[in-house]
Amino acid sequence: MRTFTLSETVASLQPSGIRKFFDLASSMEGVVSLGVGEPDFVTPWHVREACIRSLEEGYTAYTANAGLLELRQETSRYLKQRFDVSYDPKTQIIITVGASQAIDIALRTILNPGDEVLIIEPCFVSYASLVTLAGGTPVAVSATGDNDFKVQAEQLEEAITERTKAVMLCSPNNPTGTTLSRSELEQLAEVVERYNLIVLSDEIYAELVYDEDYTSFAAIRNMYEHTILISGFSKGFAMTGWRLGIVAAPAFFVEPMLKVHQYAMMCAPTMSQYAALEALRAGEQDVVQMRKSYKQRRNYITKSFNSMGLSCHSPGGAFYAFPSIQSTGLTSAEFAEQLLWEEKVAVVPGSVFGASGEGYIRCSYAASMEQLMEAVKRMERFLQKKDRTLHA
Ligand code: PMP
Repeated sequence: MRTFTLSETVASLQPSGIRKFFDLASSMEGVVSLGVGEPDFVTPWHVREACIRSLEEGYTAYTANAGLLELRQETSRYLKQRFDVSYDPKTQIIITVGASQAIDIALRTILNPGDEVLIIEPCFVSYASLVTLAGGTPVAVSATGDNDFKVQAEQLEEAITERTKAVMLCSPNNPTGTTLSRSELEQLAEVVERYNLIVLSDEIYAELVYDEDYTSFAAIRNMYEHTILISGFSKGFAMTGWRLGIVAAPAFFVEPMLKVHQYAMMCAPTMSQYAALEALRAGEQDVVQMRKSYKQRRNYITKSFNSMGLSCHSPGGAFYAFPSIQSTGLTSAEFAEQLLWEEKVAVVPGSVFGASGEGYIRCSYAASMEQLMEAVKRMERFLQKKDRTLHA
């Protein structure tokens, strides 16, 4: 067999800790999965139909690199109406291949080798690896359970060095569901302004907020010019497989980002863009219904965890609960593995999202009420068994 010297950067990346569990869970029968990070809804029919219609009409060619102008115009209207942030459709918005690609091109555009990016953990598993791939250095800042996983402004400040270029912010957060209020964002903004940092604000879950109105980081005073807003259709609009994201930012960020996008990707899938156009024009009620349903499930699952002795703060957004499993004396990986083997419930160990996620598990409640009730029953049984072992 031939051997080649491949990229050392790529070799240094760790495979995602989530995949391992999925592969194991999908090889077993009768598993109730609270593992997946995607909506359990199928994309609404009228949105799928808009895609079919676009194909029937023969719209199968590339679009403009930045995406269909009509879609950028609708996106601009949507961002203004929903989150009170203004972006020019011609110069400040790119339609990307998922929020994933938006994060990738943003990082590749802003980083020089060795630039540091503060990553607030626990967080989405891709951030640190995407920073590394873009030539930067990820620096972990640990948000902790005693603060409901809300990072404190002083923690950000302590992690800043001369090389700090940017901060990855994610509210509502994956995996904790923690959602920062306007005043909490303002406190972070003060540090961002003082040290002249760039903020990649991952707002992919902005439509799934249950208790308060959502505040976009770009809408915070003086933050517009510091912010690269990342959004998309995957979560709020139940469109994960369509691979469509949004990046909106001042033109001095978007213009160079468009170069990366045009060479690496050309444009986002055309038929998906036609579907997204319909989602923005006529999908508001679908989102309202889905949000209502997630909220009911959030209330049920959080209450159930607390009453079975797994302390769990009420997550303000997204579709994840992040209960503490510290009372069991198990690590999060042990808990997740034993729960899968013994009761066939799949959850994700908190440790895969960063060191401060240890002691917690991520449970996605984007599952049917029946599945959630079954998972709760099995977890109660599991905990009783562990409790007996612990006190035997
Ligand atoms: N950001 C966060 C916080 C996520 O949880 C995810 C998906 N799990 C993404 C980005 C990527 O989303 P997309 O499907 O739009 O690439």
